[in-house]
Amino acid sequence: MARFIFITGGVVSSLGKGLASAALGALLQARGFSVRLRKLDPYLNVDPGTMSPFEHGEVFVTDDGAETDLDLGHYERFTGVAARNTDSVSSGRIYSNVLEKERRGDYLGKTIQVIPHVTNEIKDFIAIGEDEVDFMLCEIGGTVGDIEGLPFFEAIRQFAQDKPRGQCIFMHLTLLPYLKASGELKTKPTQHSVKELRSIGLAPDLLVCRSEMPIPQKERDKLALFCNVRPEAVIAAQDLKSIYDAPLSYHREGLDQAVLDAFGISPAPRPNLSRWEDVSDRVHNSDGEVRVAIVGKYTQLEDAYKSIAEALTHGGMANRVKVKAEWIDAEIFEREDAAPHLENFHAIIVPGGFGERGTEGKIKAAEFARTRNVPYLGICLGMQMAVIEAARHLTDLTDAGSEEFDHEAGKKRFTPVVYHLKEWVQGNAKVERKVDDDKGGTMRLGAYDAVLAEGSRVAEIYGTTNIDERHRHRYEVDVRYKKQLEEKGLKFSGMSPDGRLPEIVEVTDHPWFIGVQFHPELKSKPFNPHPLFRDFVRAAKENSRLV
Ligand code: GLN
Repeated sequence: MARFIFITGGVVSSLGKGLASAALGALLQARGFSVRLRKLDPYLNVDPGTMSPFEHGEVFVTDDGAETDLDLGHYERFTGVAARNTDSVSSGRIYSNVLEKERRGDYLGKTIQVIPHVTNEIKDFIAIGEDEVDFMLCEIGGTVGDIEGLPFFEAIRQFAQDKPRGQCIFMHLTLLPYLKASGELKTKPTQHSVKELRSIGLAPDLLVCRSEMPIPQKERDKLALFCNVRPEAVIAAQDLKSIYDAPLSYHREGLDQAVLDAFGISPAPRPNLSRWEDVSDRVHNSDGEVRVAIVGKYTQLEDAYKSIAEALTHGGMANRVKVKAEWIDAEIFEREDAAPHLENFHAIIVPGGFGERGTEGKIKAAEFARTRNVPYLGICLGMQMAVIEAARHLTDLTDAGSEEFDHEAGKKRFTPVVYHLKEWVQGNAKVERKVDDDKGGTMRLGAYDAVLAEGSRVAEIYGTTNIDERHRHRYEVDVRYKKQLEEKGLKFSGMSPDGRLPEIVEVTDHPWFIGVQFHPELKSKPFNPHPLFRDFVRAAKENSRLV
């Protein structure tokens, strides 16, 4: 049965709880243990699928088609363990399950209350698959003291109480602010945060303290004394140059040792950190820089394309170059010529997105890349834009467009080379959708197989002709235009196994121009960069020598 580590946060949000959890998962793996990471989010949305990327950052999609918090992306990137839909839950989902059960009569007429009904639902969720791993790490979103978080804190308190002693520990992440005037790191906010935790029955075993500088022994002792943890269990989390230094840095600080001590695991298995040493070496020792333009809509918040930024870093690591990604608002190209904005970049990405705004600008970016021989990677909407661009400029479909935009505008303006998909096959089952279905969870979501054309560039890049990749979209390139476009050099080099859905297109007479209907960035790892990102950055590097 798994041991459980509950990770909570205090003082302020955005302290990097997700990253700390992911790094701890990686360190436990380095000591030979199996791990799974989970995120319990107090917000009331049923899932992040319908939340604006401006507010909540990217939606991370799992193989089994769950739309989850971007922290699950960190978990996967650090542990390589594919997340599942049972690894992410929100208050909204919990309440919706409870209410569904209530309507079904499962509670036999009882009065439904937060304790025990909501807390039981949370506890059941935490325990899913507990026999499969050595350690289950559960991160509670938000900060202690948030109203929405209370049922989760109460549930983990009960959970630890239900389990045999020593099977659950609590790790609390806080901030030690630095006061310039007195030249000190202040411990009081942490003390208050722990007091808050204690008032709801939780006592942390470990404190992970974010600080701008090393924590002097005096402050460690003070924290230990006032917060009732061992001095060795006060772990400093200093700001790092790269997130991929986190496992090594937390190891040096003694995090994994303190966790094993808290569980009484002795002797602790020796860690093998070679994977992270190599990752760190590649992050810091690069030879040159490539500049990549990401032409999209959600450019104000970098987290909106978190996985793309990370996958580019991984591609850079594989090629020993630094990738400098710059976000460009696609709408600019609707007013101004794209060339002066894009000429200084070695490669271009048009990422995924929803809605018509900015799409004409994305089409301009695709045109620039195609006609100027600049490496181009179109992801999901970025592939659709590349196909529309080719249809408009290489064939006689001059009014090519996507049904998505006609639906939005409520009128027909385009020849739909990209159309709304209403039924498809997943595994052995048929899935059906209507245009006006609910917005939540009605997309082609999760991992689907694709077959790559022998001899195509993508088959060479992947080193195989059978792949599976994660999807999140409603619209598809219409296979009816395949022949017409292929005659003009846009090859449909990846198809769904039944041959109905175009998965990859590539321009044959071009240094590197690939569009993919899926999201390869979701599967890239620092220690195993995604082949498409690896090769895209290689092409950018090659181009940088020419520019
Ligand atoms: N809006 C497009 C669709 O639904 C693309 C989605 C995406 O880029 N993830 O098909």
